[in-house]
Amino acid sequence: MVKVKSYAALQPDKPLDPYNINRRDINPDDVNIDILYCGVCHSDIHMARNEWNNTSIYPMVPGHEIIGKVKEVGSRVKKIKVGDTVGVGVYVDACEKCNNCNSGKDHYCEEGIVLTYNSYEYGTKNITYGGYSKSIVVKENYVIHIPSEMDLAKAAPLLCAGITTYSPLRHFKINNTHKVGIAGLGGLGHMGLKFASSFGADVVVFSTSDSKKEEAFDMGANHFVNINNSNEVRDHLNSCDYILDTVSANRDMGKVFSFLKTDGLIMLVGLPMEPLAISSFSLIDKRKGIVGSAIGSISETQEMINYCYEKNIYPEVELIPISKINEAFDRTINKDVRYRFVIDMSTL
Ligand SMILES: [Zn+2]
Ligand SMILES: [Zn+2]
Repeated sequence: MVKVKSYAALQPDKPLDPYNINRRDINPDDVNIDILYCGVCHSDIHMARNEWNNTSIYPMVPGHEIIGKVKEVGSRVKKIKVGDTVGVGVYVDACEKCNNCNSGKDHYCEEGIVLTYNSYEYGTKNITYGGYSKSIVVKENYVIHIPSEMDLAKAAPLLCAGITTYSPLRHFKINNTHKVGIAGLGGLGHMGLKFASSFGADVVVFSTSDSKKEEAFDMGANHFVNINNSNEVRDHLNSCDYILDTVSANRDMGKVFSFLKTDGLIMLVGLPMEPLAISSFSLIDKRKGIVGSAIGSISETQEMINYCYEKNIYPEVELIPISKINEAFDRTINKDVRYRFVIDMSTL
């Protein structure tokens, strides 16, 4: 065991505080990573505050958008060397035996993936701790190569916000024949916008105000709809092939469906705390559908990183010291971030 400095939530209603955790000694197939940057995902806040069905495990060290440098590798590690720049996303283990693990869908492992934090390592009572810490030990197979010439602070959110939006857009082969709606322009939505635009789609952003209109166009949007503006709404009814729904709040889903054309599909990636109410009428008229999507596989995450490197696609980030993490949580809740906080872990 090695003691490692971190920031942890010790109970749901208290701010995160400095805390020492124990990391395991490296196994033959492990990689030990010095953490340089960690993105702040909305799920970090829900998890730290125990807002998802009482599933939080304390102490909790959040963080699953991790960029770091390898400082040590186990004896059986083949693909990664000391000094490599690497990333770790939302999960750090899967059963590697089930149908999904054997068909490139390891993120949907039938045994359940081991999350980067707020999980137990397989067969143990050892809690996994995330990226709000100085270092992390991860099995080689769950480590992503990051080209060292990438902008590393900006690359961090690709490991969750990036892959969460890239995966469904790729799965449905989004291209220049599609009109794609992006519902919500936050951490996820702005990445969905950049990806959909880079795939050639005609992209319309749906937002609750005009405050991000200019930025949406700068990021590649072809249209912008303030859903409280009835004229703008009317122009885009029954027009989208797909809508990437990134909103993590409950609202009138009938309105979202109204923008889909016949056979259109909502790709749901946002996670409201309460179940969504969907009327059958929204679905049966014009044969509309809704499908969920969670992150992406390890190989798909690598593909996404390579794509972003090649196309120079990055999230918009605000870099903060770890001492500002509680403030960053509050500002994220209040939508006062453009568009993702990233923690500079050298400040811990
Ligand atoms: Zn996340
Ligand atoms: Zn599996």
